[in-house]
Amino acid sequence: MKWNISTLEELEDAIWRCTACGTCKVAYDYGPPSQCREICPAGTEFGFEGFMASKGKIAFARGILSGELEWDEELVEAVYKCTICAGCQSQCQLDHKPYIPEIFEALRRKAVEAGAGPLPAQKVIAQSLRSYDNPYQGPRRVRTDWARIFKKGKQKPIKDINKEPAPLLYFVGCTGAYNVPERVIPQATASIFNKLGLDYGILGENELCCGSTAMRLGDAEAFKRMAEANLETFKKLHEKQGVETIVTACAGCYRAILKDYSLADEYEEMMKGIKVIHVSQFLYDLYKAGRLEFSGPLPWKVTYHDPCHAGRHLTKFLVDKDGSQLWAGAYISLNEEDCLYDVPRDLLKAIPGIELTEMQRIRANSYCCGGGGGVMTGFPDWAQRNAALRIQEGMETGAETMVSICPFCHYNLNQGAQGIGSPMKLLDLTELIDRVLPEKEV
Ligand code: SF4
Ligand code: SF4
Repeated sequence: MKWNISTLEELEDAIWRCTACGTCKVAYDYGPPSQCREICPAGTEFGFEGFMASKGKIAFARGILSGELEWDEELVEAVYKCTICAGCQSQCQLDHKPYIPEIFEALRRKAVEAGAGPLPAQKVIAQSLRSYDNPYQGPRRVRTDWARIFKKGKQKPIKDINKEPAPLLYFVGCTGAYNVPERVIPQATASIFNKLGLDYGILGENELCCGSTAMRLGDAEAFKRMAEANLETFKKLHEKQGVETIVTACAGCYRAILKDYSLADEYEEMMKGIKVIHVSQFLYDLYKAGRLEFSGPLPWKVTYHDPCHAGRHLTKFLVDKDGSQLWAGAYISLNEEDCLYDVPRDLLKAIPGIELTEMQRIRANSYCCGGGGGVMTGFPDWAQRNAALRIQEGMETGAETMVSICPFCHYNLNQGAQGIGSPMKLLDLTELIDRVLPEKEV
């Protein structure tokens, strides 16, 4: 397959558009009254300008391009001290805004090409992808352990889509399958689908990693290997098993399949007749169609954490294609219609008794949980400390429960809460919905 993944050289023009103004360090445009608070987990933890937001990372990219910087241990570590959360991108208003996370990832690809990146702890991920097709070093047979509960009692076993046709493929994702505390998310998702009587199936042991982590770490080859295999599988499932929709409860898988895979020339052709959707949007559409009725009341005060991959990472940027207004490729405006900001909030508000109370940094200004971009593997202590900051922000609202729509955020925020002994309960939206969705009458 031909991939349009930019090199650092191809992004050079954008890289030189940064004025080093530092606006990207702080989330400033929320309120009223107008407020500001840090947006960069790396800057918050390490302070030094070089780690801080786009400003520092772009300076490193310039240094590598000009030859003034060489890959030494310190530089590699600085380049990987970033959750690729795109919080800085949301703040920058200059011409190169659309390319900011791409520049960071291209810089990492350069480090990987030079044999300098990723960090030793993160190299295990690539090895695991090669050996096991998942980043968790888990044998393939373990991938379906979460589904064992559906083989017991009155529960309906989940269809193996390799053997039986179904219009809906539930793409579980590695975190929900292998990270034991996160198995509650696929279990809740499947339970909801069963209650709704949906005709769906899973790939089971044949499911492969979406490749998101590899892409964020700059390992384009590992990403392409996973993405190409998945696209082939999706096409085959559409043609042979009638799959029309791929639903996932993982923000990382969703972002990868929707956005990263679209960098392949053949994307449209491979995904012809198939729609990919995040489970929150999928359930919201059913709710709007009157097919989701909640029991209740659930008198809980909850706050909502926007995952980067299901929020601002899905922003579409309008750029000056022919250079008639500014310069070819310059940022003109943005479109947030794909960002899952309102959908989970509207579902929460639809549950009787739930009181939604907002944190200060939300939507495009959301403060990253701290786990993305390989940070949870490379710097687990920092990831946990950062998650604790987000938990504290949640506690400021008076909420007892924090809800999100990403198993990665769910895991890291839980770690953060435990680290500071916070009583904050962490729930995925699917867990909450499963709790208030009655069994279907038969
Ligand atoms: S990335 Fe944008 S906001 Fe940040 S320093 Fe550069 S121009 Fe300023
Ligand atoms: S992507 Fe996030 S962690 Fe990385 S520099 Fe920007 S704000 Fe900081």
